[in-house]
Amino acid sequence: MNNDNIVHVDPGPGALTQMQKIRYDLTRTESVVVSHAHPDHYADAESVIEGCSFGGWRKRGKIYGSVTAIKGQDGLGPCISEYHQKIAESCTVIAPGDIVTIGGMVTEVCESKHNDPTNVGLKFHTDGGIVSYVSDTDFSEKIAKQYVGSRILMLPVTVPDDLRIKGHLCTEDSVKFIDIVKPEIAIFIHLGIVMIRHGPEKQASIAEKATGIKTIAGRDRMAVDIGDDITLSDLEIHEQGWIPDTSP
Ligand SMILES: [Zn+2]
Ligand SMILES: [Zn+2]
Repeated sequence: MNNDNIVHVDPGPGALTQMQKIRYDLTRTESVVVSHAHPDHYADAESVIEGCSFGGWRKRGKIYGSVTAIKGQDGLGPCISEYHQKIAESCTVIAPGDIVTIGGMVTEVCESKHNDPTNVGLKFHTDGGIVSYVSDTDFSEKIAKQYVGSRILMLPVTVPDDLRIKGHLCTEDSVKFIDIVKPEIAIFIHLGIVMIRHGPEKQASIAEKATGIKTIAGRDRMAVDIGDDITLSDLEIHEQGWIPDTSP
């Protein structure tokens, strides 16, 4: 994606604080995607929409989300209020099997096995190749096969070793998942507290040894650039008190 087509995927709790730390101006955001109706994936979504619509003064920002996120279903969601859906430029429900253009990128919408059954994973076709965001899911071959062709695989490995929480992946599952997809790099995201205590870097290296594929643990404010090579860096933190220089 380029700077004109910035997409926020699952702005969970703390997303705004992190953006403030790197002096990110929310009026640059083009689209917001919410994969499903769990707060670790949507808690800051309405605030992001406020930001990209200049506090509701300008109808802008495109919202994409699961049925539960946008409409609500079976007691889950909606996660984005009617007001915020109205101040955005558009609001689109996405479901597995859809192919949509998000932020100028052809995006395949993938299936997951989660206790929000409408949860979606995303396969972004960027200029540099496919970048996949796998949202919360149990492991199955069918789920993993959807992501074949990805150069970057962002994998929600919530728990270490062979610990299992229904609807989530553990390190042992990640090995099977990565073996099927064979990306150039796998990045562990969605790290739970037990995973953090066990050391996500150690867990990623277990997966790397088992698969022979570069595997790392994600960090706050980590940047991944995809070109001929894939490069990693950390975004710089700026001092507090910054106010973006923008007006509607
Ligand atoms: Zn979830
Ligand atoms: Zn989650």
